[in-house]
Amino acid sequence: MYKKVKVVPCSGIGKVFGLMAREAVLKTVIELCPDKSETVCLAYIVTGDKAVKEKIEGYDCITVDGCPKMCAAKNVTLIGGVVVEEVNVLDTVKEHKGKKFGSPTQLSDDGEVVINEIAGKIARKINEIN
Ligand code: SF4
Repeated sequence: MYKKVKVVPCSGIGKVFGLMAREAVLKTVIELCPDKSETVCLAYIVTGDKAVKEKIEGYDCITVDGCPKMCAAKNVTLIGGVVVEEVNVLDTVKEHKGKKFGSPTQLSDDGEVVINEIAGKIARKINEIN
């Protein structure tokens, strides 16, 4: 049985906001809430195979997307996940106007600040529900 909250980032390759989504999720599941959360690869979810469906369907999920397309939120919902929070990196980025967050492959110090903030928000939600 998988009872941990599934925290799923989009795959936003080639954009710093996609990197920020993935880094915020890793910070959450590895450092902040390792006993209460885990991540699942979005590409695996998109394939919709039986094993991943069993892991997601009916379970609490938090999605973290890097742009308004909301690929993680849409695909986790499609496979039957219960999306309890749809995080969009841009919502937190907006609060840090004028900062440079890094490149698609490397976060700057300001980028690290923002992903820590996002990870903190995700962790608070996980602790509320689990
Ligand atoms: S949400 Fe945006 S950045 Fe993320 S995978 Fe989809 S199109 Fe790419």
